[in-house]
Amino acid sequence: MDTKIHILPEELCNKIAAGEVVERPSSVVKELLENSLDAGATDILIELEAGGKRLIKLTDNGCGMNRQDAFLSFERHATSKIRSDSDLFALTTLGFRGEALASIASVSRVQLNTCDNDDGLGQQIYAEGGKIKNTAEAGLPRGTMIEVRNLFFNMPARKKFLRREQTELGHAADVVTKQALANPAVSFRLKHNDRMMLELRREKGLQERVAALLGRSLLQDLLSVDLQGDDDLCLTGLISQPQLTRSAASHIYTFINGRYIRDRVVQHAVMDGYRHLLMKGRYPVVVIFLKIDPAQVDVNVHPTKHEVRFREQALVHDFIAHGLQQTLRPAQWIEKGEEDSDVGKVNVTSAQAFSTDTGHRPLAAVREAPVEYSLPEESKQQEASHGLPIDQYEIAACNDSLPAEIKLQDSQYVLPGSEQRGFFSGLQLLGQYHQSYILCQDSADLILIDQHAAHERVGFEKLRHAYAAGTIPSQTLLFPEVLELDFNSATALGENQDELASLGFDIEPFGGKSFALKAIPQLLGNKDAVKLVVDVALELERIGRAGQLRESIDEILILMACHSVIRANQSLAPVEIKALFQELDQIDFKANCPHGRPILQRMTLSEIERLFRRH
Ligand code: ADP
Ligand code: MG
Repeated sequence: MDTKIHILPEELCNKIAAGEVVERPSSVVKELLENSLDAGATDILIELEAGGKRLIKLTDNGCGMNRQDAFLSFERHATSKIRSDSDLFALTTLGFRGEALASIASVSRVQLNTCDNDDGLGQQIYAEGGKIKNTAEAGLPRGTMIEVRNLFFNMPARKKFLRREQTELGHAADVVTKQALANPAVSFRLKHNDRMMLELRREKGLQERVAALLGRSLLQDLLSVDLQGDDDLCLTGLISQPQLTRSAASHIYTFINGRYIRDRVVQHAVMDGYRHLLMKGRYPVVVIFLKIDPAQVDVNVHPTKHEVRFREQALVHDFIAHGLQQTLRPAQWIEKGEEDSDVGKVNVTSAQAFSTDTGHRPLAAVREAPVEYSLPEESKQQEASHGLPIDQYEIAACNDSLPAEIKLQDSQYVLPGSEQRGFFSGLQLLGQYHQSYILCQDSADLILIDQHAAHERVGFEKLRHAYAAGTIPSQTLLFPEVLELDFNSATALGENQDELASLGFDIEPFGGKSFALKAIPQLLGNKDAVKLVVDVALELERIGRAGQLRESIDEILILMACHSVIRANQSLAPVEIKALFQELDQIDFKANCPHGRPILQRMTLSEIERLFRRH
C-alpha cells in the first residue's frame, strides 16, 4: 500500500539539523571553539575570510583524533563526550549533542586535519555537503585544524540571510570574546582577511583577560565577586560599580559551569542585584561565573545550548541577586535606596522653599536641600556636571541674589517677560515637586512638566537642527582623552569616523582598540564625554548591524541629548525654569518626538475637585 509518510534521507536530516545549529559563520566559530576547548587546547587560532562567509579556519593544540575517530566525528549523533542519558546531567564538556560537525559539514566544504600523537601520524579528511570525498594520512603536529569553506554553498536560500562582512565578523568576535572570558588560561588569536584582529595571550586570571578584551581602564571600576553558597552553588567574577554603566545589556556576560548562557532568570537576577543603583536604561558591566551541580541544570533545552533550565530557579535567582547586592553593598547609597523606596512619598522641600516669603533663603534652601531620592553616584555627578551653563541662562545658577524681576505674589512666582509669551512662558509657576517636576497653573488647570523630559526635548531639537544644517558644532578638548573599547565598539567607531565628525566628535585611532577623543559636541559638558562616546559606539554597533545608520541618526541624537541635559532630582531656580520655558516655546510640538515620552500633563480643576469629592 502507498504511504504518505516516508523517512527522510540522512543527508536531508543533517541539513535540517544544521538549520538549528548553524545560523551564520559565528555559529560555526562557536561550535569549533567548543570542540577545541573540550579537546584541552591552550592555543587557538581563528582565521576568517569575508566575515567567515568564505572561510572559517580553526587551529588548536588539543588532543586531536585518531583515524577512526576522525571519520566518526562527521557522523550525526557521534560524540566522545557522553554515553548514557545519565551523563546529560553530569556534563563537564561544552559539547555533548554530537551533531555540530555533521551539521556544519552538510552545508559547507570541510577540510579536517588532525593528529592525536607526537609521532606526526595525522589524518586528513575532505568532505563536501556532508559527503567524504577524500582522505589521506599526513605528517601533522598534535592537534586539530578545521577549515570550513563556502558556508551554505548548497543552501542558497540560507546564504541570502547572511549580512555584510563586518556584521558577520562582529558576531564571530562576540563568540570569541565570550569564550575568551571563560578561558583566560587559553590563548586566542582572531585573524580576518589576514589581519590580526585580536591577540590574547594566556593569562593568569579573569582580570587580565577582561583588561585585554574590554579595556584596562575598566578595572578600576570593577568589583570582584567570590561567593560560596549552600548546595554547591558558587559565584565568581567581576562586576561594575554603579558608576560604570552601559546603554545596552551587551556587556553582561553570564556563564554557567563555564558555558556562556543568555538566560532570562540569570539576567533578571543580575539586574535585581543592581536594583536602586542604576538609572533606567543603564546596564552594568558584568562577567560572572556560576558553578552549580550539573544535576541541577538542564543545558539540553536548546540546540545552540544558549538557554538552560534550572531545577531550583528561585534559589539560583536569589543566590545571584543577593550575591551581587552583597558585593555592591559598600557603596553607601544602597541603604538610602531602600529607605526611600516608599512609593508615592512626597518631597515637598522645593515647593515649600518656593513659598517662603524672604527673597534670599528659599533658593539657597532649595539648593542645599539634601538629595531626597536615592540615585547612583554616577547620576549625581552627571547632574553636577550638567547644570545649566551659567552664561546661557543669565544669572541662573547664582543663589545668593534673587533676580529682581521675579516677584513674589501670593506664594507664587510670576515669570517675568510677559511680552508676547508662548504657551510655556505664559504659565504661572507654582514650584517644583520632588526636584523633578515643574508645577504650573494655566487658567484653572494644573500643569505638571517633567523637567528631564523637557530638557531632553530641547537638547534633541537643538542637535537635530544643527545636524540638519550641516554639522554639530564641536569644541576641542584641552587634553584629549583616550578610550579603550571592546572589539565591536572599536570597529563601529573606526567605521563611522565621518558620521561621528558630523555629530561633533573628533576621534582618532590610537592603536589597537583604543581611540583618542579630541573634540566633542559643544552642547556637552566634557565630563561625561567619554561615557557618551562609549554609548554612541554601542549604538553605532547595534545600528550598523542593522545597516541603517542614516535612518537611525535620531536615536543617536537622543542619546546625546540625554547626556547633555539636566536630570531629574535637581532643583531649578525660577530663572532656569523661565529659560527652559522660553526654549520649549521655540519647539514645534507638532513635530514627532521620537522618544514618545510626554513632557507635560494637565489636570483640570474639575478633575482635582473630583479627587476631593467636591462634586
Ligand atoms: P560534540 O562536540 O557534541 O561531541 P561534535 O560534532 O562537535 O559533537 O564533535 C564530534 C566529536 O569529534 C567530538 O565528540 C570529539 O570527540 C571530536 N572532535 C571534534 N572537534 C575536535 C577537536 N578540535 N579536537 C579533538 N576532537 C574533536
Ligand atoms: Mg561540539
